[in-house]
Amino acid sequence: MTKFALAIHGGCGVMAKLDLSEAEWIAARRDLGRALEAGYAVLERGGRAIDAVQAAVVVMEDSPHFNAGHGAALNENGIHELDASIMDGETLAAGAVCAARHIRNPVLAARAVLEHGDAMLLAGPAADRFAEARGLAVVDQAYFTTERRRQALAAMKAHVAAGTQVAASESEKHGTVGAVALDRHGHLAAATSTGGYNNKPDGRVGDSPVIGAGTYARDGVCALSGTGKGEFFIRHVVGHEVAARMAYLGEDVKTASAKVIMEDLKPHNIGAGLVAVGADGSVAAPYNTDGMFRGWVTDTKEFRVASHAEVMSYP
Ligand code: ASP
Repeated sequence: MTKFALAIHGGCGVMAKLDLSEAEWIAARRDLGRALEAGYAVLERGGRAIDAVQAAVVVMEDSPHFNAGHGAALNENGIHELDASIMDGETLAAGAVCAARHIRNPVLAARAVLEHGDAMLLAGPAADRFAEARGLAVVDQAYFTTERRRQALAAMKAHVAAGTQVAASESEKHGTVGAVALDRHGHLAAATSTGGYNNKPDGRVGDSPVIGAGTYARDGVCALSGTGKGEFFIRHVVGHEVAARMAYLGEDVKTASAKVIMEDLKPHNIGAGLVAVGADGSVAAPYNTDGMFRGWVTDTKEFRVASHAEVMSYP
């Protein structure tokens, strides 16, 4: 098999256009393009899907424009607690970390758990210690903080005080990054990384590190990474639900993903989106918000990035 595909998202916490300057929009789309390039380079030379999704997520974790790694959301105490996971569709092996406070690139720690841990999910200080012991970069909390996230926390606290949380914009609320890939050998993989939602309770863990909810990959079916209020992704077991619809009902990746995002999650009135790739290399990227940072590329080498409805070529 020679076909390959990579799709990424930078969260459906995409704002009304007013929240970001034109320069920030351009920079965010450029970082999506850079993330695609990092994953594409792996897939193009015949590398593994799991290495491609990891490479793409690292770029987005390092970017201040997305809610993961540098630029992650703050919790109610003004602390960053980071969640990430990665899954190999060939073996169903997975690794995850949650509520980590010092791991510079949580997706790398998730990968290290997959490769070296007896456990599949490590939490809190133990996850930080594990990452450090594996030689991964650990940083002070200040590394993750950006002025935009500080302002978003203050704005959300003001909304809570005034009882107007529902009026908060999607970008004030949340965000996540994720990647899914099909490699030339027919294997699928997915990875997701997030700071969770703005002003989240201390110790809250979302769907991103929960395999089957925010992240899922199974060879022959699909790989998926979600974004949106994680509690509902866990309740609907979104990743596995999409895969189950495809496997049992024979739906294609676009139909199954759209059903879950547009219909199943609809009654909860939450912002939600995902990227998924099927075993045939087709890509789906449904969202029910104003926009979702997203992009995809296949072996035809046509890079596409988008924030709202309009899909653009990259570079
Ligand atoms: N899914 C993430 C969480 O609940 C947040 C998001 O994607 O907006 O932690």
